[in-house]
Amino acid sequence: MAQVIDGKQLASQVLEDAAAEVEWLKHHFESVPGLAVVLVGDDAASQIYVRNKIKRAKEAGIASFEHYLEADTSQATLDALIQELNDDPGVHGILVQLPLPEHIDEARIISSILPEKDVDGFHPANVGALSQGRASLVPCTPQGCLIMLRHVHQDLSGKNAVIVGRSNIVGKPMAALLLQENCTVTIAHSRTRDIRKVCQEADILIAATGSPGLIQSDWIKPEATVIDVGINAIEVDGQRKLIGDVDFDGASQVAGAISPVPGGVGPMTIACLLLNTTRAAKNQLT
Ligand code: NAD
Repeated sequence: MAQVIDGKQLASQVLEDAAAEVEWLKHHFESVPGLAVVLVGDDAASQIYVRNKIKRAKEAGIASFEHYLEADTSQATLDALIQELNDDPGVHGILVQLPLPEHIDEARIISSILPEKDVDGFHPANVGALSQGRASLVPCTPQGCLIMLRHVHQDLSGKNAVIVGRSNIVGKPMAALLLQENCTVTIAHSRTRDIRKVCQEADILIAATGSPGLIQSDWIKPEATVIDVGINAIEVDGQRKLIGDVDFDGASQVAGAISPVPGGVGPMTIACLLLNTTRAAKNQLT
């Protein structure tokens, strides 16, 4: 049976590191890191994500500034809010919860956040820096996945890594991070031919598709490490249940290590957001 990678446990260690950084900043600069969270509209999943992020930020001693805007908020109003937060010295990190309503130009909003306050790591300047291997604010989910992988493997060098999913927020930055670790990286996606065969070659398999249970046990190389990023809400016997992109029960018979859903990548993502916030504050204060 595979080792189960406990995201909650690892996340609590990362949160402790973030809290220690907060104390250090308080002591040396008499300043507390500030995180502004912007939520536009009333998407139920986004509300839960935002609530969790704010709760954890407060626990780590980070000041949170919450901005809840109506779904029909105009682009101009949102632009003005980002400008205000960019100019506020008490705000060190700005998080705009995605997705934004369709009438808002998401790319424009992301690009308008000051790169040094972009704690999601989605600004083109931070994306470019990551691809050149000199990023300071790395997207939270892939950063969390890398911490999980390092927990299992002392050295990732030379390993064959397959990432299923090519989104800007998970798949692509994950590939950049694993290249820096000297992995041989393949990105597979919905147009990949014979995707099962591609996955069977993976020492490290990262699933980030949003396709529930896509990855079955016969896609997995024996003893591979499997990280399941997917969060999919399904109904079983009338009950709502969250599952990943990997068939956990089958995969854990074959893999060497596997992350569960829930309790895997999710808590790591939030912990890395807070680590990024303390990093951003430190960069701005020092
Ligand atoms: P996305 O929809 O932007 O991208 C999905 C990617 O998967 C695409 O590149 C697509 O080509 C690929 N894909 C979809 N179906 C496929 C299939 N059948 N075979 C092969 N490839 C396929 O999604 P995203 O934003 O990257 O999120 C992916 C999943 O991860 C979602 O379930 C999302 O909820 C979850 N997620 C979790 C966290 C976390 O903190 N745990 C963070 C971000 C996203």
